[in-house]
Amino acid sequence: AAPTAVMVGTGVGAKNGVLFKGGDVLEITANVDAVVFDKTGTLTEGLCGVEEWGIVGEGEEEEEVLFKTWCMEKSSEHPLAKAVVEHCERRLKEMGSKRGEEVHTPEGWRGVTGMGVEGTVENKKVAVGNRAFMGILNVGIPTKVEAQLREMEFKGQTAIMVSVNGVLRAICGISDQLKPDSALAVRTLQSMGVQCWMVTGDNERTANAVGEIVGIPRSNIVSQALPETKVREVSRLQGEGRVVAMVGDGINDSPALVQADVGVAIGAGTEIAVEAASVVLVRSAASDVVVAIELSRAVFSRIK
Ligand code: ADP
Ligand code: MG
Repeated sequence: AAPTAVMVGTGVGAKNGVLFKGGDVLEITANVDAVVFDKTGTLTEGLCGVEEWGIVGEGEEEEEVLFKTWCMEKSSEHPLAKAVVEHCERRLKEMGSKRGEEVHTPEGWRGVTGMGVEGTVENKKVAVGNRAFMGILNVGIPTKVEAQLREMEFKGQTAIMVSVNGVLRAICGISDQLKPDSALAVRTLQSMGVQCWMVTGDNERTANAVGEIVGIPRSNIVSQALPETKVREVSRLQGEGRVVAMVGDGINDSPALVQADVGVAIGAGTEIAVEAASVVLVRSAASDVVVAIELSRAVFSRIK
């Protein structure tokens, strides 16, 4: 394409909230035939809310469990953490507790990507995260509680757990809403001959529930994916000769955004993802991937 056409193309993109970091990107985008989506914050809003909360096991009272959970998640930037923080603050207030008035910064706090967070609050070891995380920390999950967790997941909720000193003390079902245009985006891409995948750190049942709604077949869903799993999936598709766009919002997506032929960041995502990407969707809508591909195809006359 003529340089002016490329300039006009990137200009039209920018006007529509699709930022191409250079004309080369526009050309590669025209050849994309596979799109890998992250789930949380990309296909879904990432504006999570706690739907279910329950205390399990024996130990200190609910007020203390809520307080410790609150302190742990207050230090995390994860969308799930924000939901948990909000819930703990609300519950503590409802209970007439003063514990929600002063946050305690956990000692040795650390976030484990794709797993959760751990640290020490008032001399007790606290962990908040998924089943895999509890497994690593050797926290037992009673059969009855496991059944409750599965029930949450079948509803499409993300189930997370809280342990205090190695004992499971609370379970939490968090729901996230699909972005209104995610299903349309997937269907439109498929009709354009672009196949879609989903690679998520969330569990299989929740991932499949979302995949079902947006129209991504189970065979194209990879769950419980760590950042390196996302990279591997992108490379695998490239190995099959596909030109791959990866769409994501999180720190955990950044390596895969770099690996992809076209890394696409959700504008509202983390700064690291926006930096790692070569295309930024300012409006944060999944459907703007369609706009990006159509625009680049128009400029490079590769309308199929
Ligand atoms: P996605 O790939 O869908 O964006 P992530 O890789 O960010 O998901 O997270 C994967 C999983 O790790 C979450 O579904 C959750 O179970 C767990 N997790 C990550 N961070 C936290 C946190 N701060 N609190 C609780 N759970 C967390
Ligand atoms: Mg995400």
